Amino acid sequence: MEVCRHPKVLKRLCMNCGQMMDSKYGVAFDYLGRGLRLSYEEIARLKDTNSSKLLAEKKLQLVLDLDNTLLHSKLLKDLKPKEKYLKNQTDDMFMIEIGGKLVTIKLRPLVRNFLKEVSSMFEMYIYTMGSRDYAKHMAHLLGKDYFEKRVISRDDSINKEKKSLDLVLGHESGVIILDDNYKVWPDHHKNLILMKIFTYFSRSSKRKSRKKDKLSESDGNGVLPYILTVLREIHGMFFSPNMSRDVRMLLREIRGRILKGCIVFFVDVDENKYQPGISNQAEELGAECTTILDSSVTHVVVTARTKEITGDSVLWAQLEKKILVHPWWIYITYLLWHRQPEDKFPTLN
Ligand SMILES: [Mg+2]
Ligand SMILES: [Zn+2]
Repeated sequence: MEVCRHPKVLKRLCMNCGQMMDSKYGVAFDYLGRGLRLSYEEIARLKDTNSSKLLAEKKLQLVLDLDNTLLHSKLLKDLKPKEKYLKNQTDDMFMIEIGGKLVTIKLRPLVRNFLKEVSSMFEMYIYTMGSRDYAKHMAHLLGKDYFEKRVISRDDSINKEKKSLDLVLGHESGVIILDDNYKVWPDHHKNLILMKIFTYFSRSSKRKSRKKDKLSESDGNGVLPYILTVLREIHGMFFSPNMSRDVRMLLREIRGRILKGCIVFFVDVDENKYQPGISNQAEELGAECTTILDSSVTHVVVTARTKEITGDSVLWAQLEKKILVHPWWIYITYLLWHRQPEDKFPTLN
């Protein structure tokens, strides 16, 4: 039998001619309609038309992760006894029944304001490794008009370990991703703004919860105002004349100015403690990483002044009046898109 090449298939039936199709025809787009599959040509066509439409509206696209990016959730039954009182708080705290289980949810500080502001510049997607049911509830909580059908969950992607922009209807040159997980986007690092992990409830594991860090969001405004500033800047640049119309270039350009002129020397820093690697971060920020300790070095990055580990380089830095700084200086600068004052991040004694 001749197989048709019509663009849309719903529950294995061609939507044009009604013939039964292969279950692997094209790509599944369940988030747009349960059982919907689109041909590759149709996906390309939809990406083209949607991107053109958005350009005319002066909008880009923003793909938002949920967990630890916009909110932190935990099953009620997993809350520690000392946390149980939290469920009675009303401040950006919610309790929702999902699949027969009660889930407590804390929104990241200023998330509602953030979404409202970015919605005028971006068409927004939710993209989560959570279930479809969970994703729908969270979209509802955050404001479902922002997302309409654009809620992609674990149940909508073929690969459970990675996320892909294939399912987003627009050109990759106009898509920015906000996610706290670098590794789930192996093909789209250039589109990614890595988010500082937002946690509110203690971890379920027995591991001791981390000490309050320099940028705890349990009080204060947290990181979203910084991210909003970057998104505004990119949006403005994208739509100005003579600028690159590719957010990947713009992200790189803006990031590359932040530590321009810094020449950093690392002493015994655990490279992999910080995704995507602390020297990668420094380089993306425009700093130059060197392995030669000479007068051109501006910063000696070192966690602690332990003579046995750091050798003479710390002493040298002090004599030469170089800036001694903790790796957190780079890490937080990377996450906030804003050069941090070095004295806020001293090397440990
Ligand atoms: Mg996440
Ligand atoms: Zn057909």
